[in-house]
Amino acid sequence: MGRQITGRLVIATHNSGKLWEMRELLAPYGVDAVSASDLDLPEPEETGATFAENARLKARSAAAAANLPAFADDSGLCVAALGGAPGIYSARWAGETRDFGAAMRKIESELEARAAMPPFRAAFISALCVAWPDGHIEDFEGRVDGELVFPPRGTKGFGYDPIFLPDGHEKTFGEMMSTDKHAIPADGSRALSHRARAFQALARSCLDADVSVSG
Ligand code: IMP
Repeated sequence: MGRQITGRLVIATHNSGKLWEMRELLAPYGVDAVSASDLDLPEPEETGATFAENARLKARSAAAAANLPAFADDSGLCVAALGGAPGIYSARWAGETRDFGAAMRKIESELEARAAMPPFRAAFISALCVAWPDGHIEDFEGRVDGELVFPPRGTKGFGYDPIFLPDGHEKTFGEMMSTDKHAIPADGSRALSHRARAFQALARSCLDADVSVSG
């Protein structure tokens, strides 16, 4: 059992999509989520060597600046035949213009350059960290394994979703409804996405299910 999250929590992101998703996930537990941009907090540079280090760095910086518990995440796609790339550089591979079509083509051409043969094993990984102003931290990781398909399939989702086929499924993340990808099953069974799996681990450890309101 980790330290419990109660009351106000800073979501250390300047990304409105992530903020929205976290608010939704935390609301049933009575957690009041405020964003780092609402509080005008500085955005630290992601200088860590791992997803967990980057998540810690962002959570610690926000907790210290806001004097409140703070939550941060870091995530990305790791391709086995590319030695784990793009990994923590997943967002950066899409460049300033966030061109994920180009980033997916880059993955395909790097695989070709290495004469890699399918199946192209890959995993999405999500690291979550909650940091308190007294220095205490709790961190969690979720992953989903699968393989890459080319050409990309589907127009839903974001980022690398259209090339990722999770094990045991016939649709890529780009072809799935976001609820199928991200939902936290009410019966306690395992969620599908890396982020949802990491959140399940966080909820089990740090959120009080008794506060939970259904509906
Ligand atoms: P972050 O905002 O630093 O965590 O960057 C994560 C990057 O990894 C995103 O910009 C996406 O490119 C990629 N990524 C992470 N999670 C997903 C996902 O669920 N689907 C598709 N791409 C993802």
